[in-house]
Amino acid sequence: MSTKDHPIVIAIDGPAASGKSSTAKAVAAELGYRYLDSGAFYRALTLAALNAGLPTRTWSSLTTEQVRNLAVAATPVGAGYDLSIAGAPVGDEIRSSRVNAHVSRLAAVPAVRGWLLDALREAGRDGGLVADGRDIGTVVFPDAELKIFLVCDPEERALRRLRQRGRPEPDVRQIREEARHLLERDRLDQSREIAPLIKAHDAILLDTTDLSLDAQVGAIVRLARARARP
Ligand code: C5P
Repeated sequence: MSTKDHPIVIAIDGPAASGKSSTAKAVAAELGYRYLDSGAFYRALTLAALNAGLPTRTWSSLTTEQVRNLAVAATPVGAGYDLSIAGAPVGDEIRSSRVNAHVSRLAAVPAVRGWLLDALREAGRDGGLVADGRDIGTVVFPDAELKIFLVCDPEERALRRLRQRGRPEPDVRQIREEARHLLERDRLDQSREIAPLIKAHDAILLDTTDLSLDAQVGAIVRLARARARP
């Protein structure tokens, strides 16, 4: 019996840039599971709201109807999901500093979270899913068979993020500035009323500060194989 015969849901939560996405994607590939990047959904909605010219001061009172009208859709493709806005595929713009600066504000809006909850749960209905985000183990899939909470030193997170953006040797000032942005986003995500970023009581804490990607992926895959045994 393998993780394929008895597909489980693996929830990976943690603060901004803690390595969730790259880890979750590699774990999914190793197990032959689908990968769900829930942050990308919040990012696409944020981009759509900004592009639609919805003033940020009105976001907190958005209705479900207004969220639906942002026309963000997810289509299962290969081992993941393709996101689109009004039928046009979203690109790297959802990772821009403009979206980074606003996404936590939109993610705190009740109508946004309610609307996405259904879409995310639907994706995990049949198991065989690795999902990453902030509230996957606490709210979206509270019964997930395996929950991981990733943490990492803020300056190491900032360094990794800057390298991803094509700056191999950032200086100390750039690292501190990036860490400040990440910590501000964490603060907003931890302090919101609905589904705040918090470790689920039954999640396994994994500090990736001194771990290579291979090491963290290997650790999670071993745990998944043990949990997937019926
Ligand atoms: O994971 P990523 O950094 O792409 O997430 C972007 C933002 O989306 C987070 O800072 C958070 O505000 C929001 N988010 C959330 N719940 C999730 C995933 C992301 O609130 N499950």
